[in-house]
Amino acid sequence: MWSNGRSEAALEAALPVPIDIRPMKSARRLRLHFDEAAGVLKLTCPWRTSRRSALAWALDQRDWIQAQLAHAHTPEPFMPGGSVPIHGIDTRIVWSEHLPRTPVLVDGELRCGGPEASLPRRIERFLKNLALKAMSEDAAEYAAVAKVKPCSITIGDAGTRWGSCSSQGRIRLSWRLILATPQVRRYVVAHEVAHLVHLHHGLEFKALEARLFGPGLSQAKAELRRVGPRLRVVGRGG
Ligand SMILES: [Zn+2]
Repeated sequence: MWSNGRSEAALEAALPVPIDIRPMKSARRLRLHFDEAAGVLKLTCPWRTSRRSALAWALDQRDWIQAQLAHAHTPEPFMPGGSVPIHGIDTRIVWSEHLPRTPVLVDGELRCGGPEASLPRRIERFLKNLALKAMSEDAAEYAAVAKVKPCSITIGDAGTRWGSCSSQGRIRLSWRLILATPQVRRYVVAHEVAHLVHLHHGLEFKALEARLFGPGLSQAKAELRRVGPRLRVVGRGG
């Protein structure tokens, strides 16, 4: 199984939300519950279950966890008068037919015109362009420090992954990172650029990732875990 050989910390970090593991004398099997209010997974397990195997089991329930998270967060469709987080700041969507079709970010507002029906599509395209531009710049900056060159940088919306890097040096990033604060977005980019040098999560990789990102790496990781579930529902449910 792919989780073999991963440390407890790595397993725990791969979960999208914090987990509270409680071995119980009365428990016959592992059970997972999502505490929506606290945003915490609660796992009860038989007394002798090791923390590592409990974490590995929880990771196997990833699809179920994502479904719970999707329910817990009210979708935030792109609509006139609504809001969208951009660079981590809630930004009001101002729509009027008479404004230009292409959205523009002015004075902390996202101003858009054109037909209302196609507004969500145009906002998403605007955010994808913004994401690609920002993350291409971030990647170029980190790649210069790491003395590497990515083969390509592309934007996607792949399930639960924020970023990936292939052995051919192709970096793919979720456009939704533009919704997060710059430190969260830059952490994911630094992580993927570090993979251009090391295709694993070993010590050399961690050292490079830390050198590229600079101070505040663990805070950025924790922030992504906290805001990630919300970012995944932004623009959905329209
Ligand atoms: Zn990685």
